[in-house]
Amino acid sequence: MRKTPSPNSKGKQNSGRNDMSGISFIYFDLDDTLIDHKKAQDRALADLWTRYPELQSSGPEVLISVYAGVNNKLWHVYRNSGIGQNELKRIRFEKTFSELGVRGLDWREAEAAYMEFYQRHWEWIDDAREVFTDLAKRYPVGVLTNGFNDIQKKKFEHFSLNRYARELIVSEQTGYLKPDPRIFQYAADLAGYPPESLLYVGDSHSSDIEGGSRSGWKTAWYAVDKEPVEDSPANLIFTHFSELKKALT
Ligand SMILES: [Mg+2]
Repeated sequence: MRKTPSPNSKGKQNSGRNDMSGISFIYFDLDDTLIDHKKAQDRALADLWTRYPELQSSGPEVLISVYAGVNNKLWHVYRNSGIGQNELKRIRFEKTFSELGVRGLDWREAEAAYMEFYQRHWEWIDDAREVFTDLAKRYPVGVLTNGFNDIQKKKFEHFSLNRYARELIVSEQTGYLKPDPRIFQYAADLAGYPPESLLYVGDSHSSDIEGGSRSGWKTAWYAVDKEPVEDSPANLIFTHFSELKKALT
């Protein structure tokens, strides 16, 4: 994947761009597509900073950025099966604390407090709820998310997603993480439609758009705050959910 400045990205487009015909089933990514995960994570870390004086030798924005860097790297290791879920939860706090020079704060206590704060800050992405629920009246829909069963299932409940979605799939239950084609195959089998009539809507170009496209699905990229990608295989690139709604009417 090559990233280019925006002026070039509009010149070359995939030939299926804006072709949203023949769609029978729509799967949505969860974090940062329907639900504002990043905002919840940042606010939870700010709450953590406020609760524990041990963290306050630098500002909350330092904790937020160090944690994000550590966590992103660890997810790559987790994806490649180098560590398990519990190790990821431990190491992301231990490593953040060691990078910040924080001593005397137990990672278990921090992790438990973080999870409690994180859940308090869950919110829909702007205008995603309205479009998601509207599309759910016109298409069968599902949610397909990378993540841990326990926390992702709490999100399904919190946002009553089972009222709208026919399928709710967490990577952990399948044994594969997006963009592995086997998780898209798993989801396609549950939907019961051929890949070319499935649409995947997500914010991650590598996991969602490349993963979905390689599996023969149509894809819609929620590209808000993203670097443009030259020759993206996405059938639709949008930054407001109203554009997705319009493309599907
Ligand atoms: Mg996402």
